[in-house]
Amino acid sequence: MLEDPDELAVLEEIQHELVLQEQLLIEEYERSLQFDEECLNAMLDGLDAGDKIICPVCRKNNLTVRNHLVFCQCGLYISTQDMTEEKLRSVLENTITEHSHRCFHNPEFTVTSGMEEETSLLMSCSVCDSWMILL
Ligand SMILES: [Zn+2]
Ligand SMILES: [Zn+2]
Repeated sequence: MLEDPDELAVLEEIQHELVLQEQLLIEEYERSLQFDEECLNAMLDGLDAGDKIICPVCRKNNLTVRNHLVFCQCGLYISTQDMTEEKLRSVLENTITEHSHRCFHNPEFTVTSGMEEETSLLMSCSVCDSWMILL
């Protein structure tokens, strides 16, 4: 049994510290969630804005679809079967929305460039451990 008042005070202090730390962690987590959500909304807004499709890889330039080729100033260059801007927009929108239903994290978009395989656009998320080939 702890009857020494000094020891009790120390214990209480430790407990207080732990609670504070936990609160800080929770706050940090909530902030990061909020940040992800803002990113996601900005991305969806970008997709909605007129007929421009923001490149999900660099998030700066617009994707161009011409002769079934999808390309961007950042170096993204993918040949597709029968892609149109409209199809591309809905593919991106659907994939991002679908992912956001099961995961709050903002997924990453990368271009795979195997030596023999064709280049493809990949969406991956380290949080829910999923990936998907978009193009
Ligand atoms: Zn780009
Ligand atoms: Zn995820």
